[in-house]
Amino acid sequence: MSRLGYDDTPVIPGQRWKVHDPNRPQPRIVTPGESAGAAPSDAVVLFDGRDLSGWEAAKGGPAGWKVQDGYMEVVPGTGNIRSRTHHGDCQLHVEWAAPSVVKGESQGRGNSGVFLLGRYEIQVLDCYENPTYADGTTAAIYGQFPPLVNACRRPGQWQTYDIIWIGPKWDSAGRLLSAARVTVFHNGIVVHHATELIGPTTHRKVLAYAPHPPTGPLELQDHGDLVRYRNIWLRPLTGYDQA
Ligand code: MG
Repeated sequence: MSRLGYDDTPVIPGQRWKVHDPNRPQPRIVTPGESAGAAPSDAVVLFDGRDLSGWEAAKGGPAGWKVQDGYMEVVPGTGNIRSRTHHGDCQLHVEWAAPSVVKGESQGRGNSGVFLLGRYEIQVLDCYENPTYADGTTAAIYGQFPPLVNACRRPGQWQTYDIIWIGPKWDSAGRLLSAARVTVFHNGIVVHHATELIGPTTHRKVLAYAPHPPTGPLELQDHGDLVRYRNIWLRPLTGYDQA
């Protein structure tokens, strides 16, 4: 690995950049406005700051993260957690904060992630004065598309993602009818607009779509950093069910 990325990775289909290309231009920096989003009346609240009753460890068993003062925080080594409620196409609101004590650089600073259906990651990372490979920047569709701009607040400050998720669709023979599409606002600033995902997201690889159920859990990543989350809610658009 070079300082910011990788030179030995495949070219992303349809692009002129390699996966995690260290030479891909950095997203432009924009300073976001002040306000954030409270849950509307028809929201399904996944985390209201009180407890982790709506969550479990992604590997099974109880969620190992801690809850205090209205937020949950990664407990490194306890693993990813996922919502017990499954979602399909939805509008999702997530608030998060990177650690105010800055340590590490590039992908090692305030790393976590929001995984739609447990498979498709919108990157959580502290990219305030912290360059990394562009497709791993805060709010990137990890390994595929950098955000349109870098709208990061300072470490320790609360940040928002507002995500419109339309999942991939297959016919009964398992042929892909439509790719997943995602629109993301980071701190109220559009960073992806109806962007079609290439497939599930992962590290250093390009993955193809494979049929999966239309709903799945929302998953949050334990990447070893003390990232906090609060006020997580969604509004189903279609295909909603309960786990
Ligand atoms: Mg991550």
